[in-house]
Order: sequence, then structure tokens, then C-alpha cells
Amino acid sequence: MEKLFVDKFGDDSRPLIKVRAPGRVNLIGEHTDYNDGYVFPMALTRNTTILAKPRTDSTVRLASSIEPQIVEFSIDTAVKKEAPKWSAYPRGVAEALRQKKLLKIGMDALVYTDVPLGGGLSSSASFEVASGLALLTVNRAKMNLPDLALACQWAEHQYAGVPCGIMDQYISAMGVKGHAMLLDCRDLTPRQIPLDNSQVEFLIVNSNVKHELVQGEYTARRNQCQRAVELISRSFPTVKALRDVSMTMLEECRLELDPVVFRRAKHVITENQRTLEFASALEKKNWAHAGELMYASHNSLRDDYGVSCPELDALVDICAAVPGIYGARMTGGGFGGSIVAMGRHAAMADAAVAIDNQYPQRTGLQATHFVTTAGAGAHVVQGLAG
Ligand code: ADP
Ligand code: MG
Repeated sequence: MEKLFVDKFGDDSRPLIKVRAPGRVNLIGEHTDYNDGYVFPMALTRNTTILAKPRTDSTVRLASSIEPQIVEFSIDTAVKKEAPKWSAYPRGVAEALRQKKLLKIGMDALVYTDVPLGGGLSSSASFEVASGLALLTVNRAKMNLPDLALACQWAEHQYAGVPCGIMDQYISAMGVKGHAMLLDCRDLTPRQIPLDNSQVEFLIVNSNVKHELVQGEYTARRNQCQRAVELISRSFPTVKALRDVSMTMLEECRLELDPVVFRRAKHVITENQRTLEFASALEKKNWAHAGELMYASHNSLRDDYGVSCPELDALVDICAAVPGIYGARMTGGGFGGSIVAMGRHAAMADAAVAIDNQYPQRTGLQATHFVTTAGAGAHVVQGLAG
């Protein structure tokens, strides 16, 4: 990467800094975020890395190992929203930090990532957080991590046009090595839960399908959840979101709810319970029970929430038959994308072989996969001296 930096920007005696921010996988707690519920992301050991040198002026010049052109913009005045598309992320973050008056100088920067792009592992959040950390580092400026995460979310909304939640930026900024993060989406309090990296590892498998219905179905699910809240709050006026509803309350309202809306609500309510139970199972190192909860989550997403697809079901099925795999489930919005399987170190290679052998037979497709443990959150690998 240092050589590529010299290729792009030439060689000189300015100090070189290096920062890193990870991609993420959500271990459990799916479609709970917009219901004020719980999510449980883990930082990957795969990262976006940025090498940068401070400039004396207010220009940011940015190169990517996977893009031909060098992007250039000024942080003197509001950062322009301009092509190429991939520059939206660092532009948005630079603008957020500029508005907070944290930036005096620009930088020459090279970005490199080993997080798969567009695979539901949030290469975008890791790009944003790394961009923010690089800009702060060359400016010798400090920002607390929740604020950095919020600035990055703002960038994704305003510059990339993706109305995402806060989970991805939170875990990328605040992940702790050997831990996953139980995040309460109502009050945004993160709890770091230890995850013994010597005992469990994770296989992330991309189904390499993306069914077209994602956006419409996502909107439909959100509307169904809202409908459930409207109807349930007639009987229970304190209910503001499905987060506030128990299964007993839902059962009491069964007759007022359309059967489909009932099942959607049931998924959200049981998924919140599973997510909390998953956290305590991990704290007790009860991997077997945590794994059962992952399978239960997958079944609920498939049967009650209706967001799985045959390819994801096949991958979970294949993993479930491998000794030493504790649990597996689809992760992300659904209708394609990836699954995550948790198991012992020795089971990882066996699961990978099983997938390579069986997934093409069952679906006509090739899956791509890699192994990860709980990685570290964003950090400065090499800062400015002094
Ligand atoms: P995901 O976050 O699931 O990986 P997104 O579509 O949200 O998928 O973000 C992927 C986009 O982020 C890419 O299309 C690209 O524009 C941008 N991106 C991420 N990492 C890099 C990088 N290292 N260089 C250039 N662009 C990147
Ligand atoms: Mg993204």
C-alpha cells in the first residue's frame, strides 16, 4: 500500500499516517432497529485502511486502490456533492467535520479495503469512519467516537443518499476486539459483550444473489410494523413501538390484527427476546444455546417475517449439518446477501468445504466466504509524531 501511495502522490518527507476502520456483521437482532429494538453487531477483522499525509492547504486529494482517478475537493467552504459516486462517503464526512470546525488542513490520502463491497458487510460505514479518523488525525483534532459515528451516518444520509440506521457506524467506530456490541436502538447505549476469540469463530458466506424485491418489501415490512403498533396501542396506550410489546400483549390483540401483521409483529417481539438471550448466553460462554438462538432467528425471519430466500435457507441448512457449527442465520435485510455461521475453529474449514460442494448443486450458484473473529473498532495505526 505504501508503494501505491507513492505511485499516486509521489514521494516526499511529509509524515505518513495510517488509520483503520472495520466492516461489520450483525450476529442477531434483524429488522428490530426500526422498531426501537436491539441489534448485535460485531466488527470484522476486515478493514478499510487509509494512508494519508497532511497538506498545508485546505485541499483533500483522495485515491482508491480500486478506482482510476484521484478525487480532489476543498474544505474551505461546503464540500461539493460531485462525481464520482464513491467519493460521496469521504466528501460527506469531511463536510460534517468541517461544520464542527474541526478541520484546518486537507490531506493526500489513499484508501484500500478488504471488506467486500456491496456485500451487506458495510464497506460504506468502514470507509466513512476511516475517512473521518484520517481527517481528524492529520488535523490533530479529537472527537468522541459516538459523535464520529453520527457524523458518518449524516454523511451516508446526506451525501450517499442512503437513509441508514446508526448500527453500522457505531460498531465500526466503537467495536472492541474480542467483543460484540449489544446496541439498544432506542437510547443508543452500546454494551460490549465478550466473545472469546479462542473458542468461537465466524464464517461469513455471501449467497451472491440479490433478489429485486428488496426495497418494496422493506417498505412493506416497515408499514406492517407500524400498523401493528397502531392497533396494539389502542388496547395498550403506552406502546410506542413493537419494542414495548410482549407476546402476551400481542396474543391479546390477535383478533384485531390481520394474520400477516400478527406474524410480522411476532418476529420482531421474539427477535428482541432472542437478542437479549443471545447476549447472556455469550456471557456464560454457552455457545450451543447461542447457536440455537441463531437458528431460531433464521426460522423466524423465514416463516414469520418472510424475508429469507431459498439460497439463504440452503446455506443455513448446509452449515447446520457440519459438526462444530453452533448456529447460523441470514444476516442483513434478506432476499439475498449473506449468512453468518458461528462455530469452533476446526469447523470453519469443514463448513467452507461443505458449502463449496453442496451450494452449487442446490442453487446453480457459487458462494464466496471468509472466516472472521471479533475484530477491533476504528483506530489510528500510525499517527503524527509529538
Ligand atoms: P456495503 O456497505 O454493504 O458494502 P454499499 O453500497 O453501502 O455496500 O457501499 C459500497 C460502496 O462504497 C461502493 O460501491 C463504493 O462506492 C464505496 N466504497 C467502499 N469502499 C471503497 C473503497 N475502498 N474505494 C472506493 N469506494 C469504496
Ligand atoms: Mg453500506
